[in-house]
Amino acid sequence: MKAHWINNQWTKSDSEESIKVYNPATEELLENVPAGSESDANAAVAAAKAAFGEWRGISAVERAHMLHEVAAKIRANWDDLVELLTLEEGKPVSENEEEMEWVADTFPYYAEMARNSRGRVIPSPESSQLNMVLKEPYGVVACIVPWNYPMLLMAWKVAPALAAGNTVVIKPSEMTPLTTLLLVETCFDHLPPGVINVITGYGVPVGEALVRHPDVPLIAFTGSLETGQRISAEAAPMMKRLHLELGGKDAFVVGPDVDIKPSAEALAYAALINCGQVCTSTERVYVANAIADEFMGALVEHVRSLRLGPGIEPSTDIGPMIGEKFRAKFETHVEEARGRGAKVLTGGQRPPDKQRGYFYEPTVLTGVDHSMLIMKEETFGPAIPVMTYKTFDEAIDLVNDSKYGLGAVLRTNDPRLAKKFYEEVRAGTIWINDPLTDNYAGPFGGMKMSGNTRELGEEGLSSFMETKHVHWDFSSEPKDWWYPY
Ligand code: NAD
Repeated sequence: MKAHWINNQWTKSDSEESIKVYNPATEELLENVPAGSESDANAAVAAAKAAFGEWRGISAVERAHMLHEVAAKIRANWDDLVELLTLEEGKPVSENEEEMEWVADTFPYYAEMARNSRGRVIPSPESSQLNMVLKEPYGVVACIVPWNYPMLLMAWKVAPALAAGNTVVIKPSEMTPLTTLLLVETCFDHLPPGVINVITGYGVPVGEALVRHPDVPLIAFTGSLETGQRISAEAAPMMKRLHLELGGKDAFVVGPDVDIKPSAEALAYAALINCGQVCTSTERVYVANAIADEFMGALVEHVRSLRLGPGIEPSTDIGPMIGEKFRAKFETHVEEARGRGAKVLTGGQRPPDKQRGYFYEPTVLTGVDHSMLIMKEETFGPAIPVMTYKTFDEAIDLVNDSKYGLGAVLRTNDPRLAKKFYEEVRAGTIWINDPLTDNYAGPFGGMKMSGNTRELGEEGLSSFMETKHVHWDFSSEPKDWWYPY
């Protein structure tokens, strides 16, 4: 069994319980990790707290060198990291290569940005004074990560947190902790002990213990809306800073003027990458009435051509879902829609030729509406439910008719439609024509119930820094507004 990573060494859990980590493509056991306890979480926080003074004291230049070295070590351990990520998360190797590229490049990106990060000197009320705005690290940051992009979402937190001078405790998902453990052992061993720590375990008790811990002032969380709400309630009495990146129900609008085939291919990619298990997966589609028949024909033909299989096989386009619980929820959404009159144009079943693994055929549905779970709640699987619209105003109303506001996609060649879309749609990212492409410099996060922060870009660094105003008078003379009046 694996152990926790605290103070740069494997540390045995004080809990006897373990968590089994399975390969979702084969249902075979990969490894056991500790089902950590509250006291394990406390030990990791104590290590991170003890390391904070030294780490914040190291110059930004030296910290930057160490973070560049992390990136070099990731490249040196590339094949092992990608393979393990593929085995535990399930998506195709090419998608995991892409995920690891993001991880390797996020550390240098924030290393350099933090070298240039500065506060500012502001005008003083009097000429004898100096007023400064300082940007300081918070201290110990808890990074709580989901299973769907376990490396990338960890890096988007850990890289800026460390670059800003914080120390971290990572709590990976109980379903995908293995690559995180391999990464810290092989790529972070040159950092001072305690700067980066990993505790494995379930959300309760381990995640919750981090959220409640008085020495953790900032919680950076990516996960479901429900867990985000629970964390908010736990953290509110202590006035903790919360970075919440939550769920989505992203819309994809196909304009009346589009090229049919590439638009159908863009939609399939947006809806089916990582088997539809992306926070910004397209989860609902609105196609202009005038082109609907032709578009649906091209979409179904393309989706039928995609190959299901284990992510580790190079020929695979779509891997399995992460687990039975998630597939069962997905099936509930499909069956509810079907039971209420939706038509399945392709898919709609587990693949008959795959007895093992959490596979489900990519599924295109029509005849859906906003009263159905599949158009309302996060489905998080390989579904493409499609409605048609008559006017573009109607399409925008449908896009905005959601409690979520993470991302939204439009395909069009008409700049008037594009402008109207990015101005009127309430979502943190708007993709026009090229769905789901992220950008290191582009802040990523949600509006409405999809979250309250932004990762990446300058915002991604500044949110790991606290602002302090310093007012300094070089004169010791009494002021005429002091007592007595
Ligand atoms: P989840 O909320 O079940 O778990 C996320 C993490 O929180 C896990 O590490 C889990 O162990 C931990 N956790 C659970 N309960 C906790 C508690 N009470 N206190 C502290 N930690 C707790 O989510 P998941 O199923 O792992 O991930 C899928 C969800 O993540 C989807 O809703 C998806 O949309 C969302 N997501 C959002 C983004 C984004 O950037 N907005 C990105 C990826 C995934």
